[in-house]
Amino acid sequence: MIQDIGPRIFNNSYADKKAAPEDLFLAYEGDAILVREEKDKLWYPSFADFEEKYPHLREQAIFLFTIDEINYFLVKEQGLEVQGWIYVTTNRFRTEPKYWRSFAGAVGAQLNRWYEKHRFCGRCGQPTESSAKERMLYCKSCGLDIYPTISPCVIVAIHDGDRLLLTKYTGRAYKNYALIAGFVEVGETLEDGVRREVMEEVGLKVKNLKFYKSQPWPFSDSLLAGFFAELDGDDAITLQEDELSLGVWLHRDEIPPAESHISLTSEMQEAFRLGRNISAL
Ligand SMILES: [Zn+2]
Repeated sequence: MIQDIGPRIFNNSYADKKAAPEDLFLAYEGDAILVREEKDKLWYPSFADFEEKYPHLREQAIFLFTIDEINYFLVKEQGLEVQGWIYVTTNRFRTEPKYWRSFAGAVGAQLNRWYEKHRFCGRCGQPTESSAKERMLYCKSCGLDIYPTISPCVIVAIHDGDRLLLTKYTGRAYKNYALIAGFVEVGETLEDGVRREVMEEVGLKVKNLKFYKSQPWPFSDSLLAGFFAELDGDDAITLQEDELSLGVWLHRDEIPPAESHISLTSEMQEAFRLGRNISAL
Protein backbone atom coordinates (compact mmCIF):
# COMPACT_ATOMS: atom_id res chain seq x y z
CA MET A 1 0.00 0.00 0.00
CA ILE A 2 1.03 3.62 -0.44
CA GLN A 3 2.50 3.84 3.08
CA ASP A 4 4.57 0.66 2.72
CA ILE A 5 7.80 2.27 1.56
CA GLY A 6 10.23 -0.27 3.02
CA PRO A 7 13.18 -0.66 3.07
CA ARG A 8 12.97 3.11 3.45
CA ILE A 9 11.86 4.31 6.86
CA PHE A 10 9.35 7.10 7.32
CA ASN A 11 9.75 8.85 10.67
CA ASN A 12 7.34 11.62 11.62
CA SER A 13 8.51 12.15 15.22
CA TYR A 14 8.29 15.87 15.70
CA ALA A 15 11.47 17.93 16.19
CA ASP A 16 12.06 21.66 16.18
CA LYS A 17 14.75 21.44 13.49
CA LYS A 18 16.30 24.25 11.49
CA ALA A 19 16.78 23.61 7.79
CA ALA A 20 20.26 23.03 6.35
CA PRO A 21 21.18 23.63 2.69
CA GLU A 22 21.20 19.91 1.88
CA ASP A 23 17.73 19.29 3.36
CA LEU A 24 14.80 18.82 0.98
CA PHE A 25 11.65 20.88 0.93
CA LEU A 26 8.09 20.40 -0.27
CA ALA A 27 6.39 23.46 -1.76
CA TYR A 28 2.73 23.44 -2.80
CA GLU A 29 0.57 25.69 -4.88
CA GLY A 30 -3.09 24.68 -4.55
CA ASP A 31 -3.12 20.94 -5.32
CA ALA A 32 0.26 21.05 -7.04
CA ILE A 33 3.74 20.27 -5.73
CA LEU A 34 7.14 21.47 -6.91
CA VAL A 35 9.23 18.68 -8.48
CA ARG A 36 11.79 17.82 -11.10
CA GLU A 37 10.83 14.86 -13.26
CA GLU A 38 13.46 12.65 -14.76
CA LYS A 39 12.48 9.54 -16.69
CA ASP A 40 9.91 7.95 -14.37
CA LYS A 41 11.35 9.43 -11.19
CA LEU A 42 10.45 12.48 -9.17
CA TRP A 43 12.85 14.67 -7.25
CA TYR A 44 12.11 17.21 -4.59
CA PRO A 45 14.26 20.34 -4.32
CA SER A 46 16.96 20.93 -1.72
CA PHE A 47 17.37 24.40 -0.25
CA ALA A 48 20.77 24.54 -2.00
CA ASP A 49 18.98 24.19 -5.38
CA PHE A 50 17.03 27.39 -4.66
CA GLU A 51 19.56 29.26 -2.47
CA GLU A 52 20.82 31.62 -5.15
CA LYS A 53 17.43 32.99 -6.18
CA TYR A 54 15.59 32.47 -2.87
CA PRO A 55 18.17 32.81 -0.05
CA HIS A 56 15.47 33.31 2.62
CA LEU A 57 13.59 30.00 2.17
CA ARG A 58 15.26 28.17 5.03
CA GLU A 59 14.36 30.79 7.64
CA GLN A 60 10.63 30.03 7.78
CA ALA A 61 10.67 26.40 6.68
CA ILE A 62 8.71 24.00 8.90
CA PHE A 63 10.19 20.59 9.64
CA LEU A 64 7.85 17.81 8.46
CA PHE A 65 9.45 14.34 8.70
CA THR A 66 12.42 12.26 7.69
CA ILE A 67 12.69 9.40 5.24
CA ASP A 68 15.83 7.44 6.09
CA GLU A 69 18.33 10.19 6.94
CA ILE A 70 16.79 12.86 4.74
CA ASN A 71 14.98 15.79 6.36
CA TYR A 72 11.86 17.12 4.63
CA PHE A 73 10.64 20.65 5.31
CA LEU A 74 7.56 22.58 4.25
CA VAL A 75 8.03 25.88 2.43
CA LYS A 76 4.95 28.07 2.22
CA GLU A 77 6.19 30.47 -0.43
CA GLN A 78 4.36 30.00 -3.72
CA GLY A 79 5.26 30.51 -7.36
CA LEU A 80 8.91 29.39 -7.04
CA GLU A 81 10.63 29.53 -10.41
CA VAL A 82 13.95 27.88 -11.08
CA GLN A 83 14.87 26.28 -14.39
CA GLY A 84 13.98 22.57 -14.48
CA TRP A 85 11.50 22.63 -11.58
CA ILE A 86 7.76 22.45 -12.23
CA TYR A 87 4.52 22.15 -10.26
CA VAL A 88 2.60 18.89 -10.86
CA THR A 89 -0.73 17.80 -9.37
CA THR A 90 -0.60 15.73 -6.19
CA ASN A 91 -3.73 13.89 -7.38
CA ARG A 92 -1.50 11.74 -9.55
CA PHE A 93 -0.19 10.09 -6.36
CA ARG A 94 -3.61 8.43 -5.91
CA THR A 95 -3.30 6.35 -9.04
CA GLU A 96 0.37 6.06 -9.98
CA PRO A 97 2.29 2.90 -9.04
CA LYS A 98 3.54 2.76 -5.49
CA TYR A 99 6.54 5.04 -5.04
CA TRP A 100 8.02 6.33 -1.80
CA ARG A 101 8.33 9.89 -3.05
CA SER A 102 4.60 9.95 -3.86
CA PHE A 103 3.87 9.03 -0.26
CA ALA A 104 6.15 11.85 0.98
CA GLY A 105 4.43 14.36 -1.32
CA ALA A 106 0.93 13.26 -0.30
CA VAL A 107 1.64 13.35 3.44
CA GLY A 108 3.31 16.74 3.06
CA ALA A 109 0.21 17.98 1.22
CA GLN A 110 -2.01 16.92 4.13
CA LEU A 111 0.17 18.81 6.61
CA ASN A 112 0.32 21.81 4.28
CA ARG A 113 -3.51 21.90 4.13
CA TRP A 114 -3.67 21.76 7.92
CA TYR A 115 -1.20 24.64 8.38
CA GLU A 116 -3.06 26.66 5.73
CA LYS A 117 -6.45 26.15 7.37
CA HIS A 118 -5.26 27.06 10.85
CA ARG A 119 -3.26 30.22 10.37
CA PHE A 120 -5.81 31.91 12.62
CA CYS A 121 -7.51 30.68 15.76
CA GLY A 122 -11.00 29.33 15.04
CA ARG A 123 -12.24 30.53 18.44
CA CYS A 124 -10.91 34.08 18.77
CA GLY A 125 -9.47 34.89 15.34
CA GLN A 126 -5.91 35.74 16.46
CA PRO A 127 -2.90 34.36 14.50
CA THR A 128 -1.72 30.91 15.69
CA GLU A 129 1.84 29.89 16.53
CA SER A 130 3.70 26.59 16.16
CA SER A 131 4.61 24.58 19.24
CA ALA A 132 8.34 23.82 19.54
CA LYS A 133 7.60 20.49 21.28
CA GLU A 134 5.04 18.70 19.14
CA ARG A 135 3.03 18.92 15.91
CA MET A 136 0.60 21.46 17.29
CA LEU A 137 -0.52 25.02 16.67
CA TYR A 138 -1.73 27.13 19.55
CA CYS A 139 -3.35 30.45 20.21
CA LYS A 140 -1.52 32.67 22.70
CA SER A 141 -4.55 34.86 23.08
CA CYS A 142 -7.20 32.33 24.17
CA GLY A 143 -5.17 29.15 24.82
CA LEU A 144 -6.68 26.98 22.07
CA ASP A 145 -4.50 23.98 21.03
CA ILE A 146 -4.92 22.66 17.48
CA TYR A 147 -3.69 19.24 16.40
CA PRO A 148 -3.47 17.87 12.83
CA THR A 149 -6.79 16.79 11.37
CA ILE A 150 -7.18 13.05 10.87
CA SER A 151 -10.69 11.74 10.13
CA PRO A 152 -11.39 8.06 10.82
CA CYS A 153 -13.13 6.12 8.04
CA VAL A 154 -14.23 2.52 7.64
CA ILE A 155 -13.88 0.34 4.55
CA VAL A 156 -16.02 -2.80 4.48
CA ALA A 157 -15.64 -5.91 2.35
CA ILE A 158 -19.00 -7.70 2.70
CA HIS A 159 -18.81 -11.35 1.78
CA ASP A 160 -21.31 -14.18 1.46
CA GLY A 161 -19.60 -17.52 0.85
CA ASP A 162 -17.56 -17.05 -2.35
CA ARG A 163 -19.20 -13.75 -3.26
CA LEU A 164 -18.01 -10.25 -2.49
CA LEU A 165 -20.12 -7.09 -2.64
CA LEU A 166 -18.54 -4.52 -4.96
CA THR A 167 -19.72 -1.03 -5.74
CA LYS A 168 -19.02 1.89 -8.02
CA TYR A 169 -19.24 5.51 -6.98
CA THR A 170 -21.52 8.09 -8.56
CA GLY A 171 -19.80 11.13 -10.07
CA ARG A 172 -16.19 10.45 -9.11
CA ALA A 173 -13.09 10.10 -11.25
CA TYR A 174 -12.40 6.70 -9.66
CA LYS A 175 -14.20 4.20 -11.93
CA ASN A 176 -12.93 0.85 -10.63
CA TYR A 177 -14.81 -1.40 -8.25
CA ALA A 178 -14.82 -0.12 -4.69
CA LEU A 179 -15.94 -1.36 -1.28
CA ILE A 180 -18.41 0.29 1.06
CA ALA A 181 -16.68 3.20 2.77
CA GLY A 182 -17.53 6.19 4.87
CA PHE A 183 -16.53 8.54 7.66
CA VAL A 184 -17.14 7.53 11.25
CA GLU A 185 -19.60 9.81 13.02
CA VAL A 186 -19.05 11.52 16.38
CA GLY A 187 -19.87 9.18 19.25
CA GLU A 188 -19.65 6.06 17.13
CA THR A 189 -17.32 3.02 17.32
CA LEU A 190 -15.62 1.76 14.16
CA GLU A 191 -17.87 -1.31 14.28
CA ASP A 192 -21.04 0.77 14.56
CA GLY A 193 -19.73 2.87 11.66
CA VAL A 194 -19.40 -0.29 9.59
CA ARG A 195 -22.96 -1.43 10.32
CA ARG A 196 -24.43 2.04 9.68
CA GLU A 197 -22.53 2.66 6.41
CA VAL A 198 -23.47 -0.79 5.07
CA MET A 199 -27.15 -0.23 5.90
CA GLU A 200 -27.15 3.29 4.42
CA GLU A 201 -25.31 2.50 1.21
CA VAL A 202 -26.65 -0.94 0.26
CA GLY A 203 -29.43 -1.74 2.76
CA LEU A 204 -27.77 -4.92 4.10
CA LYS A 205 -27.05 -6.33 7.53
CA VAL A 206 -23.61 -7.70 8.44
CA LYS A 207 -22.14 -9.86 11.21
CA ASN A 208 -18.78 -11.33 12.31
CA LEU A 209 -16.78 -8.18 11.65
CA LYS A 210 -13.05 -8.84 11.32
CA PHE A 211 -10.58 -5.97 11.41
CA TYR A 212 -8.05 -6.37 8.58
CA LYS A 213 -5.57 -3.44 8.42
CA SER A 214 -5.49 0.32 8.64
CA GLN A 215 -4.14 2.83 6.16
CA PRO A 216 -3.35 6.53 6.35
CA TRP A 217 -5.02 8.13 3.31
CA PRO A 218 -3.58 11.65 3.15
CA PHE A 219 -5.67 12.68 0.12
CA SER A 220 -8.78 13.00 2.29
CA ASP A 221 -7.01 13.66 5.63
CA SER A 222 -8.29 10.30 6.81
CA LEU A 223 -7.25 7.12 8.54
CA LEU A 224 -8.95 4.09 7.04
CA ALA A 225 -9.88 1.00 9.03
CA GLY A 226 -10.57 -2.01 6.81
CA PHE A 227 -13.04 -4.70 7.93
CA PHE A 228 -14.28 -7.93 6.41
CA ALA A 229 -17.89 -8.60 7.36
CA GLU A 230 -20.22 -11.48 6.66
CA LEU A 231 -23.66 -10.91 5.16
CA ASP A 232 -26.37 -11.40 7.78
CA GLY A 233 -29.64 -12.53 6.16
CA ASP A 234 -31.16 -11.20 2.94
CA ASP A 235 -28.73 -10.40 0.07
CA ALA A 236 -31.01 -8.00 -1.84
CA ILE A 237 -29.17 -4.71 -2.42
CA THR A 238 -30.94 -1.36 -1.98
CA LEU A 239 -28.61 1.20 -3.44
CA GLN A 240 -28.11 4.68 -2.04
CA GLU A 241 -28.16 6.27 -5.46
CA ASP A 242 -26.68 9.67 -4.65
CA GLU A 243 -23.49 7.87 -3.48
CA LEU A 244 -23.32 4.74 -5.62
CA SER A 245 -24.08 3.95 -9.25
CA LEU A 246 -23.65 0.19 -8.87
CA GLY A 247 -23.75 -2.48 -6.20
CA VAL A 248 -23.21 -6.08 -7.25
CA TRP A 249 -22.35 -9.49 -5.81
CA LEU A 250 -19.38 -10.97 -7.68
CA HIS A 251 -18.05 -14.52 -7.32
CA ARG A 252 -14.31 -14.50 -6.55
CA ASP A 253 -13.61 -15.78 -10.10
CA GLU A 254 -15.41 -12.74 -11.57
CA ILE A 255 -13.51 -10.11 -9.57
CA PRO A 256 -10.98 -8.31 -11.80
CA PRO A 257 -7.35 -8.39 -10.60
CA ALA A 258 -6.25 -5.21 -8.83
CA GLU A 259 -4.78 -2.59 -11.18
CA SER A 260 -3.16 -0.66 -8.38
CA HIS A 261 -1.53 -1.78 -5.18
CA ILE A 262 -1.56 1.44 -3.24
CA SER A 263 -4.99 1.43 -1.61
CA LEU A 264 -6.45 -0.66 1.19
CA THR A 265 -9.60 -1.10 -0.93
CA SER A 266 -7.58 -2.78 -3.70
CA GLU A 267 -5.63 -4.94 -1.27
CA MET A 268 -8.81 -6.20 0.41
CA GLN A 269 -10.50 -7.03 -2.91
CA GLU A 270 -7.34 -8.84 -3.99
CA ALA A 271 -7.13 -10.80 -0.73
CA PHE A 272 -10.69 -12.06 -1.28
CA ARG A 273 -10.20 -12.73 -5.00
CA LEU A 274 -7.13 -14.87 -4.31
CA GLY A 275 -9.06 -16.86 -1.72
CA ARG A 276 -6.98 -15.91 1.27
CA ASN A 277 -8.57 -17.21 4.40
CA ILE A 278 -10.43 -14.14 5.63
CA SER A 279 -11.26 -15.61 9.02
CA ALA A 280 -7.56 -16.31 9.66
CA LEU A 281 -6.32 -12.84 8.70
ZN1 LIG B 1 -7.71 32.02 20.17
